[in-house]
Amino acid sequence: MSREIIIIGGGLAGCEAAWQAAGRNCRVTLHEMKPKKFSPAHKSEFLAELVCSNSLRSSDLHSAVGLLKEEMRRIGSLIMAAAGKTSVPAGKALAVDRNRFAEYITKRIDEHPLISVSREEITKIPPPSSTPVIIATGPLTSSMLADSLLEITGRDHLAFYDAIAPIVYADSLDMGIIFQASRYDDGPGDYLNCPMDEKQYKRFITELKDAEKVPLKSFEKKKYFEGCLPIEVMLDRGDNTLRFGPMKPVGLTDPGTGKACFAVVQLRKENRENTLYNMVGFQTKLTYPEQKRIFSLIPGMEKAEFARLGSIHRNTFICSPDVLMETLQFIKRPDLLPAGQITGVEGYVESTAIGLLAGINAARLANSEPPVVPPPVTAMGALIAHLTNRDVKHFQPSNINFGLFKKLGKKIPKRFRGEHYAERALKALEKWLDTENVRRKE
Ligand SMILES: Cc1cc2nc3c(=O)[nH]c(=O)nc-3n(C[C@H](O)[C@H](O)[C@H](O)COP(=O)(O)OP(=O)(O)OC[C@H]3O[C@@H](n4cnc5c(N)ncnc54)[C@H](O)[C@@H]3O)c2cc1C
Repeated sequence: MSREIIIIGGGLAGCEAAWQAAGRNCRVTLHEMKPKKFSPAHKSEFLAELVCSNSLRSSDLHSAVGLLKEEMRRIGSLIMAAAGKTSVPAGKALAVDRNRFAEYITKRIDEHPLISVSREEITKIPPPSSTPVIIATGPLTSSMLADSLLEITGRDHLAFYDAIAPIVYADSLDMGIIFQASRYDDGPGDYLNCPMDEKQYKRFITELKDAEKVPLKSFEKKKYFEGCLPIEVMLDRGDNTLRFGPMKPVGLTDPGTGKACFAVVQLRKENRENTLYNMVGFQTKLTYPEQKRIFSLIPGMEKAEFARLGSIHRNTFICSPDVLMETLQFIKRPDLLPAGQITGVEGYVESTAIGLLAGINAARLANSEPPVVPPPVTAMGALIAHLTNRDVKHFQPSNINFGLFKKLGKKIPKRFRGEHYAERALKALEKWLDTENVRRKE
């Protein structure tokens, strides 16, 4: 006898979740508000619409996103199958014909005997029951449902914009220039500090003023929270604003020169392994190439490699580390599982992966089986760790990157690291699929 699952949102995560749950003998009702109602970014009537780029990024198995895709293929992902069937040449990236991609997924979902699609907006989270509910309504969740979600998360745990500062790999920083110190502290301190003299600061702000910015989308009102203004907006208010804001030098002496710094860029630990650092207060709407060019002017960051670049988007997301279990169930409502970008991952592939895991776990709950957590060494495990094992105060959405992974046991030269991460992950994944009985049944 098949059990019931409800899914709200027929995007990438919702469709993948439906496919996984139906593949585990669950009867799925998938609610999608299109075409009756469109978010400001969605245009097509198909399910699983790609709202912007048609690229699912690198297809190299030794890249973090390439590995994530391979893990999903091995679990029988519908979205990965669709991408394989509808790909278009794009060098080392996996790009798709967006209409054929969405059409393929819509057809497979519509034709599945255990999935029924209801084209309506859901405005309220269903009350607790024995039927698991997946919320996969994406970064542009309709406002009434977002209000209903607030009742579960609380006002402090649901954000409507992300303000993302860039993240750099620790081993790409020049520690001959950068020094470790917290403001006013004598000890080694928790922050890495990139010191600037007056000449370096002037050059930096001159380049920043002229840099190319990403134009705002029509639905993105130019309304930022004062607490997370983009650096270029701060600079518009005066040449010294950054020196009184995120580049404040007070309480920091450069041990290299023995002098107080004129300005400082501070880097804060982003993970427990200390492989990633966040540029404190450096949220920005500069284009990606301009971020790389301008941030390379910061002393000690000349050769910085970025795990993530900065951005500011309209984005509804939950503060997952405070409200979710590793199984993706809400702590307060274990019958309710968010999936996709709304959990605080970023990107088509990452959203799909979280949809896949939510689909598996909702099905397991419906079938009275214990929910599962992927091995921490896999790319999916790294995403779950990002969502549930983070510093709550600084939680912001993230793409998959090797900085989120458990460190490799031994020191491996950088160019071979991807290969080692992939080998370790796929071995653990295969074992997990067998021992936990995670494979799809159909
Ligand atoms: C403007 C924009 C551009 C982006 N560009 C990229 C990019 O180029 N590359 C990339 O990797 N990522 C991009 N992203 C980020 C993200 O990867 C995508 O938004 C991705 O589609 C998220 O997948 P999802 O399944 O979580 O949500 P979505 O794919 O957005 O799916 C959510 C679905 O839920 C439906 N829905 C919403 N509310 C309700 C409701 N109350 N009832 C019923 N249905 C509802 C929506 O109509 C939609 O079909 C972008 C995001 C935005 C907002």
